[in-house]
Amino acid sequence: MNNIKNLIDDKGVKPTYHRIKILEFLQNNKNHPTADKIYEEIVKYIPTISKTTVYNTLKIFVEKEIIEELTITGNETHYELTEDTGPHHHFYCTQCKTIFDIEAECNQECSKKNDIDGNKVQSYQCYYKGICCNCLRKNNNEMNN
Ligand SMILES: [Zn+2]
Ligand SMILES: [Zn+2]
Repeated sequence: MNNIKNLIDDKGVKPTYHRIKILEFLQNNKNHPTADKIYEEIVKYIPTISKTTVYNTLKIFVEKEIIEELTITGNETHYELTEDTGPHHHFYCTQCKTIFDIEAECNQECSKKNDIDGNKVQSYQCYYKGICCNCLRKNNNEMNN
């Protein structure tokens, strides 16, 4: 709780109760939740929180680089904490709709460049889409039955 408060404070954001609770939720739920999901879960134990508060807080956190936005699914925005994940990539399973962290280093040629066409690269992230190993296994089992 104190760490979270400091994290928000360090970024020049006022650590209000709701903000702390939202960040705490993201720290405890590393499965890349959407804003709606975050709201649905938090409102269960903080009935006074509004959807607008959740959305506004997420927006501030993204601006201050406390959390990161993932647009991998193409229709919804998912969120994760910036600090403890470190740079990593994401794999989106189009079958079970799960977003997985990819720890492996990106092998794409573009990832090794510090500048592209004279533009300085500060960060990059790769989105992979496909069928995850769990679903592949499930599909295989179903085919064999
Ligand atoms: Zn899957
Ligand atoms: Zn991630």
